[in-house]
Amino acid sequence: MKERAGESPVWEDALEQLRGLEELHLLRETKRASNPAGPAIVRNGQTLWNFSSNNYLDLATHPHVLKKAQEALEKWGTGAGGSRLITGTLEIHEELEWRLSRLKKTETALVFSSGYLANIGVIQALSRTADGTRVPILFDKHVHASLIDAILLSGSPWKSFPHNDIEAARRIGESLLQGKAPQSGQGKRQPRILIVTEGVFSMDGDVAPLDELYKLTEQWEGLLIVDDAHGTGVVGFGGSGAASIMGVAGAPRLVQVGTLSKALASQGGFVACANIVRDLLVNRARAFIFDTALAPPCVGAALGALDVLENDPDRLAVLAANVQLLRDALRSRGFEIPESPSAIIPVMVHDSRRALRLAEELEKKGYLVVAIRPPTVPPQTDRLRITVMATHPQSVLASFAEALGSLHAGDLQSDF
Ligand code: PMP
Repeated sequence: MKERAGESPVWEDALEQLRGLEELHLLRETKRASNPAGPAIVRNGQTLWNFSSNNYLDLATHPHVLKKAQEALEKWGTGAGGSRLITGTLEIHEELEWRLSRLKKTETALVFSSGYLANIGVIQALSRTADGTRVPILFDKHVHASLIDAILLSGSPWKSFPHNDIEAARRIGESLLQGKAPQSGQGKRQPRILIVTEGVFSMDGDVAPLDELYKLTEQWEGLLIVDDAHGTGVVGFGGSGAASIMGVAGAPRLVQVGTLSKALASQGGFVACANIVRDLLVNRARAFIFDTALAPPCVGAALGALDVLENDPDRLAVLAANVQLLRDALRSRGFEIPESPSAIIPVMVHDSRRALRLAEELEKKGYLVVAIRPPTVPPQTDRLRITVMATHPQSVLASFAEALGSLHAGDLQSDF
């Protein structure tokens, strides 16, 4: 932390909080890069291979994506000029929604100005019935902070279940529904529960058992909300995501959330869903209604990335091959690496100080991997979260695995 002697007494409490975080090795700070997002990052004049980027397909500087962003900028300007319901809905927003629904095999989609806001909006809108009842929410303990915030903001009763544990989900869901009788054949039907999970988990890199969760959703007459920020453009046929791998894409009780900010190399979020859900979101999701429409260059970039996904399937294949190569290389060095098609590979360290030390040592060897600590992950599950990109050279993947293997072995012996 920067030396802060002489800070105004107004900020004494803030200082105390920051010192507390520092003592626990949990202080965070922004670090500046001096080049655009890509497989290598330049920091303080040092070039590092970047193993912490969500720009999985390396499209943020792809010529076609730049061209589409530029065209949108020139045709539509820098900003949309209003919220979607006032004057901000432009033709390209609708084109993007149509293209996203095609990718996700849904009737339609609705674009938000971030994935964070899409989660806030969808949970808020779907967790309340016509008569104002709050729908109970059951969610996986490892879901992203934006979903947790959305659930807390919704005011609904909620319970969480241990990560990807279907039996626990069933038991806990039943206790959440206790006292709520199943709906009879007549009368109005309302969703009785929302089940909330991720498709590809952002910090674990595994895929949720969406088929099993969907069965529970049907049995309980609920809705399944899946945030596939890290599966979109990475897993499934044509990058369609986790729901298509699990055979539930397009299912009537499924609502898919995604972001444009990772494999699609832009900014913004979306909900892919049935027409009726879109109409409800447009009328009920405050994070959509009261937010300025996504800026045209971001829309253009996302459209460009979708073009690349459709026209250059090899890029996805190369990413998959790189992921397999690194998983195998780490396994052969003794790491326990689960099988998963995702580009996220967690190496568990279980201790914040140690995770930071490993990241520092890797940096000295020319690799950037950020140590992920609480509260991003549960206590004692600190880890290095490694992400693979389509443009990481295979020789670099191999040398990175070797560097991590030797450091980790030394780390375990010396205990620092
Ligand atoms: N959901 C998940 C699983 C994420 O990882 C993120 C981004 N870290 C978000 C939502 C938020 O998306 P955005 O960055 O578009 O706000």
